Amino acid sequence: MEITVALGGNPNSGKTTLFNELTGARQHVGNYPGVTVEKKEGDYIHGEYSLHIVDLPGIYSLTAYSVEEVVTRDFLIAEKPDVIVNIVDASNLERNLYLSVQFLERGIPTCIALNMIDAAKSRGIEVDAEKLSELLGVPVVPLIARTGYGKHELMKAAADLAAQKKEDRLLRISYGDDLGKVILEMEKEIEADTFMTDIYPPRWTAVKYMENDELILSKGRKHNPGLAAKFEKMVETVADHLRETVDTYPEALVADYRYGYISSILRQGVIRRKGNEDRLYASDKIDRIVTNRFLGPIIMMAVLLGLYQFTFTYSELPVKWCESFFEGFGDIVSANLPDGLLKSLIVSGIIDGVGGVLGFVPMIMFMFFGIALLEDSGYLARVAFMLDRVFMTFGMHGSSVMAYIISGGIAGGCAVPGIMATRTLRSPRERLATLLTAPFMNCGAKLPVFALLIAAFFSEHKSTLMFVFTLISWAGALIVAKLLRLTVIRGESMPFVMELPPYRLPTFKGLLIHTYERTWQYVRKAGTVILGISVLIWAMMTFPGLSENRLMDFEQQRERLKASVPDSAVGMSLQAESLKKQIRVIDAKEAEERLKYSVAGRIGTSLESLTRLAGFDWRVNIALLGGFAAKEVIVSSLGTAYSLGEINPDESGPLSERLARLPNWSPLAAISLIIFIMFYAPCFVAVVCIAKEAGSWKWGVTVFQVGSALGY
Ligand code: GDP
Ligand code: MG
Repeated sequence: MEITVALGGNPNSGKTTLFNELTGARQHVGNYPGVTVEKKEGDYIHGEYSLHIVDLPGIYSLTAYSVEEVVTRDFLIAEKPDVIVNIVDASNLERNLYLSVQFLERGIPTCIALNMIDAAKSRGIEVDAEKLSELLGVPVVPLIARTGYGKHELMKAAADLAAQKKEDRLLRISYGDDLGKVILEMEKEIEADTFMTDIYPPRWTAVKYMENDELILSKGRKHNPGLAAKFEKMVETVADHLRETVDTYPEALVADYRYGYISSILRQGVIRRKGNEDRLYASDKIDRIVTNRFLGPIIMMAVLLGLYQFTFTYSELPVKWCESFFEGFGDIVSANLPDGLLKSLIVSGIIDGVGGVLGFVPMIMFMFFGIALLEDSGYLARVAFMLDRVFMTFGMHGSSVMAYIISGGIAGGCAVPGIMATRTLRSPRERLATLLTAPFMNCGAKLPVFALLIAAFFSEHKSTLMFVFTLISWAGALIVAKLLRLTVIRGESMPFVMELPPYRLPTFKGLLIHTYERTWQYVRKAGTVILGISVLIWAMMTFPGLSENRLMDFEQQRERLKASVPDSAVGMSLQAESLKKQIRVIDAKEAEERLKYSVAGRIGTSLESLTRLAGFDWRVNIALLGGFAAKEVIVSSLGTAYSLGEINPDESGPLSERLARLPNWSPLAAISLIIFIMFYAPCFVAVVCIAKEAGSWKWGVTVFQVGSALGY
């Protein structure tokens, strides 16, 4: 028989870390809420134990307010795990046990993993696991998920608990006089009527009625409308009574009694503090400075500038190497293949296209390393915390900041997980405003385009420029969000409390894994999606070819030129040089005409009258169209366009250098293009994701329109 073990607990309690320790699967380990929205499964095998492990999303309570909570509740009903391993943060017991208590009331065999005892110890907190186990009546196993200390004991305890199969011992908390009486009354009726008793313990259902739990209420109404109405009436009566007598409501009272129960347990010698009771913890001390009202923002700006400095300056040389590699590779292939379609496909379509994207791998790697450092240390959560106030003014929340950052708000994310991360926002309006504007952030696919243009036109001040572009993207996103909140998604804001995880020293292994995972994703995308689109766009830039007549025309022009130079003069190097040059001019004209005549060229040209105002020629238009499929394609399409329609073939070199030499390009045109790319249509995948998450295609189309208009 296989035993299913669910890992449940508060966000940041170490579930994913333990999951990875147990199953060996690599998975994202983050510090902000909402990383583990998906369900992760794996197997733990050790000696005689073989357990199936499921990593549940992080939650604080078993209410039905957030998606995570609902996911967890559904999971408990649908898959009935044999045992829950409830991970609690030993240094934050009171808060963490709030969820444990609910698991116990819900009647699920629970085994408590007392995690982070190392961190607790360094804060001077020691927890008596045996005492806690005795008082709660469940196994409690000390654990350091990060090192794996205690994991075997924990799994053994979980397996033993599952094997016992004795009647689930339900925790019955006292809810005081007023509530207690009514809950008991309801319990009796629930038992007599077997009202949903196949799913929930009777007392749990009664307490949920007290909490006004929407999901239970609607289930109850379906199950037995008469009884449900009676219960609702009973709750209403107590609620009225409470409001008059103590000015509170049942839901709040339920929470009060649960916390009361927890603190009564903790008071019985479970927690021992060493040293000064109210000394400031290291994290709090750091936060005094780092999130200080004046110093905080200055430090934040400095950190971001430092990050850009690190990324763009230090990666410069390796990026150059990469570029030269692909360039040399292209030259070799080019020299060894006969002229024709195949050569054009391989050199212009694939090597110049995909190679251009892959050339930025070192930069992406540096960026991801820097971000991982900020994220794993807990600093990113502080950024969100400091920006919370700002976001409120624009009709969003602190969690919105996280969604922005995941989307690439600092640099190098992706809008798709960013949009998914908005699921943690409880209020639908803030959520919508956030997910519609998150794609304006500078995701990892836009970065190479920016880097290319910055390298071409601004050899100085790279990191400062990147910083300014980051500010512009945030400003654009915030303004659009505010506009949306004033018009189509008008409505009250919901209050929101943000919690800060303590600072942690990132492990080098963790940083490397994060950097590797994300860089690999980038490389894989270049090798698959980008490759496919590059070839497609190459084809659009190549077909239809010029007519025989036109080709003949060019051929004749060349012949005429050659004939005009007398044979006797060919030997003279000066004249031979000038002849070569003139022929090259004709070659270039032909190449340009060919590109213009192709499908892509025609589309690009037809849009030119509109885009000329923004400073984009038809070649750029082709690249922008490609960018709708994936933003990296802008780099590859520019590469292909300038390689197919090469104007000055002997002046080759990296694309950035070639762009810088072209007459119709200027620093201003580059800035204009960067800003347009920042805001115009999100990539196709992001639009689909927006439509899905916002619940309607209308929103996907809106983002497309608003973004393009704003960018323009
Ligand atoms: P989840 O949100 O519950 O999945 O939590 P994570 O597994 O992502 O862990 C959150 C943070 O806590 C990470 O930075 C971990 O490295 C850290 N962490 C996890 N377990 C321990 C532990 O036992 N001791 C210490 N000091 N840190 C831990
Ligand atoms: Mg997690």
